[in-house]
Amino acid sequence: MAAAKKVALINPGKSQRFAVQEPLNLGYIAAYLEKNGVEVKIFDQLAGDDVENAVLAFKPDVAGITSTTPVIYEAYKNADFYRKNNILTVMGGVHPWFFPHEALAHADIVVRGEGEKAMLDIVNGKRAGGVIDAGYVENVNELPFPARHLMSMGRYLYCKKYTPHILHLPYVSSRKKIIHILTSRGCPHSECIYCHNSFKKFPYRANSPEKVIEEIKLLKKDYGIDALYFVEDDFWTDIERVAGISALLIKEGLNNIVWGASARVDQIVSTPPDVFALAKKAGCRSITIGFETGSPHMLEVLKKGFTIDDACKAAENVKKAGLLLHGNIIVGAPHETMEDARLSKQFLKKTAMVTPEIYLFTPYPGSMIWCKLETEKAIPANMDWRRFSQEETIINLSAIPTKQLNKLRAAMYITYYISNPMQAARLIFSALMHPRAIIDKILHTLKPGFINTSPLPVGERTKVRGN
Ligand code: SF4
Repeated sequence: MAAAKKVALINPGKSQRFAVQEPLNLGYIAAYLEKNGVEVKIFDQLAGDDVENAVLAFKPDVAGITSTTPVIYEAYKNADFYRKNNILTVMGGVHPWFFPHEALAHADIVVRGEGEKAMLDIVNGKRAGGVIDAGYVENVNELPFPARHLMSMGRYLYCKKYTPHILHLPYVSSRKKIIHILTSRGCPHSECIYCHNSFKKFPYRANSPEKVIEEIKLLKKDYGIDALYFVEDDFWTDIERVAGISALLIKEGLNNIVWGASARVDQIVSTPPDVFALAKKAGCRSITIGFETGSPHMLEVLKKGFTIDDACKAAENVKKAGLLLHGNIIVGAPHETMEDARLSKQFLKKTAMVTPEIYLFTPYPGSMIWCKLETEKAIPANMDWRRFSQEETIINLSAIPTKQLNKLRAAMYITYYISNPMQAARLIFSALMHPRAIIDKILHTLKPGFINTSPLPVGERTKVRGN
């Protein structure tokens, strides 16, 4: 009998600050390949693994590397190394998807789209080079659960301890075990000009409530989790599904696991109070909303598809339901004026989010705004992709001078914390507990381009099972 083919899947990058959640995209591909008899290992450079030597020791037939824009150089370095060692090298992820020819200078194959089936075809020798347009998986319910047994779960279960600058988990302490879970793909809105969905436009597809509960049961058994975060772009899309998942969490006695999830403003406005009550009883503690601005003008520009009144109503509904509100604000969006920024500052104060996240506008490749800039030939030559981290202004499309934007962002945070002493106290407490990470966060806010590459403590990358 022929030996099983071997595939190494690599999560590249050395900046630990990006290692917020387990690489679920690789986990899904790994599980699909394993189900089809392929031997797979995940090598996670972001989690601190020494990947290149470990991959060579594994002797894979295929190396598959995922990548986002800010870590693309590290991804290319990996790809060059495996190709030099005669391993068939495949790249996927948003950046190679959008720049397949740039990626093909480093890899043999580029997969554009959701990679499960395409990777199996490659392993089976159906494709040996070029660009594969993989499209999307129609029935996500049929996919096996991501192969977390191949990931550095000792690192990711305690993500809040290792990356305390992350703000989307205000409902859980850093001592607790947290899992990120992906139960749907795509966004039904797909219009926001800065978002990868505005380019992909894949339809919304979701696991059934029963399948979601099956996965959570497994996570409880395998890892003894305390908390969950539904990491998909838009968990709240189907309110009936939210109610179904909540009812099953209660029925199965899993409502001692606290959780948070993302939602759009319009969905939160139209959610009936009994669904909020059910979700809260089922463990829901926090809702993340991408408000992005407090200015009606900027809502139009960003194509958010809701009004400021809707945004205020959504914030009020979350508060009324007794849930924490985590929200995002963007500074420096196209055509933004000082008056727009003032309205955002006012909005931040008014909505009293428990953890606001304030970004500098970044025209990511693979978004509608990037395509527009490309058409207008407005992209400077030789972009440094490492700068695409929402921490600095890459191309200033606003009406505010670039130097001002960073100060404005810092001023928004300061105003927010002055008007929310409880949150300021939490930040100070967190700074005392994790001084390095909080200093990094502050430096990121005040000093663009600052990158932390602090390694993980040795022995923290092992897998953890059960309580
Ligand atoms: S930002 Fe959110 S709502 Fe807008 S297209 Fe992206 S996922 Fe959808």
